[in-house]
Amino acid sequence: MIRIGCHLSSSKGFLAMGKQITELGGNTFQYFTRNPRGSRAKELDPDDIAAFLAYGAAHDITTVVAHAPYTLNPCSAQEKTREFAMMAMEDDLKRMEMTPHQLYNFHPGSHVGQGIETGIRLISDQLNALLQPGQTTTVLLETMAGKGSEVGGRFEELREILDRVTLSDHMGVCLDTCHVFDAGYDIVNDLDGVLTQFDKVIGLSKLRALHLNDSMNPLGNHKDRHQKIGQGYIGQEAFARIVRHPALRGLPMILETPNELPGYAAEIHLLQELAGE
Ligand code: FE
Ligand code: FE
Ligand code: ZN
Repeated sequence: MIRIGCHLSSSKGFLAMGKQITELGGNTFQYFTRNPRGSRAKELDPDDIAAFLAYGAAHDITTVVAHAPYTLNPCSAQEKTREFAMMAMEDDLKRMEMTPHQLYNFHPGSHVGQGIETGIRLISDQLNALLQPGQTTTVLLETMAGKGSEVGGRFEELREILDRVTLSDHMGVCLDTCHVFDAGYDIVNDLDGVLTQFDKVIGLSKLRALHLNDSMNPLGNHKDRHQKIGQGYIGQEAFARIVRHPALRGLPMILETPNELPGYAAEIHLLQELAGE
């Protein structure tokens, strides 16, 4: 069984998301820890979480992915923005221990002209300030499209962050298919080659989740525009190879395609079929 689901709105709580993904035919999901643009996080309801954990255990929802807000930029040139990133991530990580052993994914950030090395240093410094030896959450760096001054468009950049983080056992990587394709990694014609490169540079054991998105733009365009599965430049055949790949099979695969819920249900079904289920 592949582990597949999509991004869901968290506005009705955890149990509602669990039930929703079951209805859509999936067994994992992703949600924003707070408004993707804004800063406020909703108060978590312990009863809702307890009900969700019981529901998840009964419905094989073992792994879910929390996504940090897009505005979180630990390597901003503005101290205020860096402070917000620190505050929001600290609060998110505290709250996430209420749903233990889950994944927290964030965009490493944009160095906005300070240079890639400064960006990498600031991101690593923040992680070193926040990670706790006893935490159960694994923090994931997302592979980025290399748009503007984004850090994380090359596997080497993610490797360097991981090397600088002391508690790197609590860290992993989330590979976004649209982003890596936009960054220039040819997962259409050479999936094995890209995964070999990932293994050499980062290590496949660090790969903990996938974002499954087709791309509106050709290889290496650095645009980051997601497309529905099979309707972009990556194409359905490449996704068939991705969901069938032995190195990727057990990982949570999250759709972030431009869809409403029925569209997600159709894509979940399609990918399960492509995986041979
Ligand atoms: Fe993302
Ligand atoms: Fe993504
Ligand atoms: Zn994206």
